[in-house]
Amino acid sequence: MSNRVAISRCKSYHLDEVTESIREVISNTSFPCVKNKKVLVKPNILSDAKTETGITTNPIVVEALINILKEEGAETIYLGDSPGLHSSSFDAHTCGIKDVCERTGTNWVDFTANPVMHKIGKHSLPIARIIDEVDVVISVAKFKTNQLMYSTGCVKNMFGSIPGLNKSSCHVKAPSRSAFADLITEIYKESKCSYGLMDGIIAMEGPGPANGNIRQVGLILGSADSYLTDYAQAMIMGYRIEDIPILMAGKKKGYTKLEPTYPLLDARELVIKDYKRVEIGKEKAIPALIKSNLLKPFHSLMIKIRKTPTFRDDKCVLCKRCVDICPAKALDVVDNHITLNKAHCVRCYCCHEMCPKNAIDII
Ligand code: SF4
Ligand code: SF4
Repeated sequence: MSNRVAISRCKSYHLDEVTESIREVISNTSFPCVKNKKVLVKPNILSDAKTETGITTNPIVVEALINILKEEGAETIYLGDSPGLHSSSFDAHTCGIKDVCERTGTNWVDFTANPVMHKIGKHSLPIARIIDEVDVVISVAKFKTNQLMYSTGCVKNMFGSIPGLNKSSCHVKAPSRSAFADLITEIYKESKCSYGLMDGIIAMEGPGPANGNIRQVGLILGSADSYLTDYAQAMIMGYRIEDIPILMAGKKKGYTKLEPTYPLLDARELVIKDYKRVEIGKEKAIPALIKSNLLKPFHSLMIKIRKTPTFRDDKCVLCKRCVDICPAKALDVVDNHITLNKAHCVRCYCCHEMCPKNAIDII
C-alpha cells in the first residue's frame, strides 16, 4: 500500500475551494479507481448535529468528493452512516449531509436495514449490508479529538458501519483502551475501506468528539492508508504517535507500517503547539506485564483508574440519551438527577458523546 499522505490547505467551505483541495490531495496519493464501480462514501455523522458544531464531516466536503467521483465515472454512489442512537427518524438533515444526496442525486443508505453478521476478530458483529454490496469504500472523517482514543479519524470512522446501539456494546466486549483499539482495527479491515479523506478545515479540540470547541485548522488530508491520514492528524494535534492506541494496534497487527511520506505539506511542519488535546490516560504508565492477557484480572483495575463521567444538573435536561446509550447499564434517573453506578461503568464515554447539552464532564 502507498505510504503517501497528501495535506492541502483549504481555508473555507466554499465548494470550489474544497473541490480544488480534494483534487490536489487525491491526485498526489493512490486514490482507488472508481470508474464503473459502486462506491460508498462514509462521512462521520456521530449525531445529526448542526454543521457549525464541528461534530460531523462538513457537507460541502462530502459534496465536493461526490462531484469528483461522478466525474471519475463512478457507476453508483451511496452515502450513509449510523450514529450510536440511530432512531427510525434519523436522516442527517440537520447536519446538511442528507441534503447533499438531494443536490447530487446520491443514494442515502440506512445502515440499520438488514445488517449482515460478520466474524470480526473473536466477535460476531452486525455490519451494514451496503459494505458487502459495493466495490469501493471511502472514509470521510472529521479532524477531532476523542476522549477514549485521544483522536478520532478515518480508521475509527468506519466503526459507524456497525449499526446503532451495537456499537456501544463493543465497549463491553473490549473495555480496555488497547482491546477497543484492536477491535476498531478489525472492524476497519472488515469495512474494506480503500481511502481515508479528512475534513480538517474547521476541526474540534478539547473534549471531543462531540463536546469540544471548534478550531480553524484549514487543511484537507488524504491517503490510501487511512492509518496514515490519522497519523498526520495526530502529529498536527501535537500527540506522540506512540500514545494513539488505534495507530499502535494497526502497526502491531501489520495493517500499516506507519511510515508516511508527504508529497504536499509535511505534517511535521504543521504541528499546532497549543492544540487542546485529550490528556493521555494514566494506564499508559502500567507495566506491560499487567496489560498482557496473563494478568487479565487487573484489566478491570486499569479501567477503574480512567477518568469518570460526572453529570451537571445545571445543564442536564433529562433527555436520557446517556441512559439509553450506556452499554454497561450504569446510569439511571433518580429524583430527577442522572446517577452513575461507578462499579458498573466501563469508562467508554459513550454518554459524553451522545449528550446534546454538554452536561457531562470527564474528570
Ligand atoms: S444526555 Fe446529557 S442532557 Fe441528556 S440526560 Fe444525559 S446528561 Fe442530561
Ligand atoms: S456511564 Fe458513560 S462512560 Fe460509563 S459505561 Fe455508561 S456510557 Fe460508558
